[in-house]
Amino acid sequence: MATAAALRLLPEVERFLASAPLCGIVGGKEVKGSTGETMATLDPGSGEPLAEFHVLSAADVDRAVHAAADAFRRSGWATLSPGERGALLHRLADAVEKHKPILGQLESLDAGKIHSQALGDIQNFVDTLRYFTDMACHVQRRNVLAVAGHEAWTVRHPWGPCGFIFPWNFPFLLVGWGISPALAAGNTVVIKPAEDTPLSTIYLGRLAREVGIPDGVINVIPGTGQVTGAALSAHPGIRRMSFTGSPEVGRMVAEACGRNLVPVKLELGGKGAAVVFDDVDVAATAEKLVGAITFHTGQVCCDATRWIVHRSIHDRFLDECCRRLEQVRVGYQMDGASQMGPVVNAKQRARVLSYLEKGVKQGAKPVLAGGTADVSGRQGFYVKPALLAGTLDNVAAREEIFGPVAYVASFSSEDEAIAMANDTDYGLANSVWTGDLGRAARVAESMVAGNSWINAHNVFPRGVPYGGVNKSGLGGGVLSIETLFDYWRSQSVVRPL
Ligand code: NAD
Repeated sequence: MATAAALRLLPEVERFLASAPLCGIVGGKEVKGSTGETMATLDPGSGEPLAEFHVLSAADVDRAVHAAADAFRRSGWATLSPGERGALLHRLADAVEKHKPILGQLESLDAGKIHSQALGDIQNFVDTLRYFTDMACHVQRRNVLAVAGHEAWTVRHPWGPCGFIFPWNFPFLLVGWGISPALAAGNTVVIKPAEDTPLSTIYLGRLAREVGIPDGVINVIPGTGQVTGAALSAHPGIRRMSFTGSPEVGRMVAEACGRNLVPVKLELGGKGAAVVFDDVDVAATAEKLVGAITFHTGQVCCDATRWIVHRSIHDRFLDECCRRLEQVRVGYQMDGASQMGPVVNAKQRARVLSYLEKGVKQGAKPVLAGGTADVSGRQGFYVKPALLAGTLDNVAAREEIFGPVAYVASFSSEDEAIAMANDTDYGLANSVWTGDLGRAARVAESMVAGNSWINAHNVFPRGVPYGGVNKSGLGGGVLSIETLFDYWRSQSVVRPL
């Protein structure tokens, strides 16, 4: 297990944490929760509290939505030209980039994320914000329609206050994917971060004020899912909603939005497959899939968790994977030597361990048993990578575990592999691995999911829509021009001639 010295905290990070209990940001002001309730966010790598933060109540959420509605109507944000709005959003992107060392430490501490990966997430936010900001300047918002006997056109308007609820696995990156198109389109936003990881989002709220984003355009409402998140998703003043998280909660959010007839975008869980044919470089493919399943300790919605491998290379592939998984250095997320950090909390660790136990009980072979990992001097939530093998009717092959656990099964024919990959309730992301590009394209298109990757897994170039189907999501994906259009409502205007 990794033992290198941990990175020293920057004075600005110390000061931010010492300013706890941390407030929400509503209408440009720091606000405490009206009930006085606070809760602590923990460092998953040590199990110790990092900072207390205010829990915003339903009444506070109501104030936040009104602040966002006021800013939409009165601040001028919605009616700025895309270029003028873009200048402010570029200032925000620049400020985030300038504060990347601070945000990177906050994100690493709060989410248990390997520090270098946390820095990558912050840069990803910056790049995404710049991408949508520039795109909004170049998209036609008024289209003339050629209709007999009429002058007619369509025009796109921002919706108004948009609600966002985010999970804990990529707190800052996902905020960037979510709010960038909404803001660039002229909407105002109310952001509910996960209770396990509110720090970077609260910091963003402070930065937005400093760079001159008008008050009420970006509101941050920390709190619990049951109170704060539920109040946001049920608020009739929200004009558009976006939720990223589990299918169970996604269903509740969609029901609440449905009652208000508010359009909702859901980005949910997954149980992705990697279909590996017998013509691959076995060692290189094992290396990449081991990298994917251990990246952020397997807490990645689109991960390949079912490895469907051609029978003729199955044993060799297992050996190559096992050898690599055994060598992964589990350690504190801010130690430079660590390759895999903790999972986010004790509940998540118990979830991973319970799936290992249930999977084996149902007949899966524990090729690599996994279990808790000890990291010297740290009482955090560490687990070892695990590898199970067997048939895909096993609970560990069917349900989302959200940890560094892969499940291996074998196939004999292309049709069988496709059927196995598609035998799931989820539909987020799969990959196919082969040197035969014709077969790769065929299999990629046959897998029922929002995203198929070829000879790679977890690929997110901006411009390629990313989203899920079935139990993995609905309402359109993220990261492409379609996402920007989602944040405009369309109106037609007609004059008979
Ligand atoms: P979660 O569903 O438990 O929580 C997500 C958010 O919802 C949190 O902010 C939480 O406070 C809030 N919430 C909880 N109960 C609520 C309620 N009743 N009403 C409104 N909001 C409520 O998910 P999680 O455990 O934080 O994250 C893990 C899940 O997220 C996994 O299923 C993962 O696959 C999924 N995920 C999906 C994507 C994607 O892009 N498809 C990305 C990241 C994570």
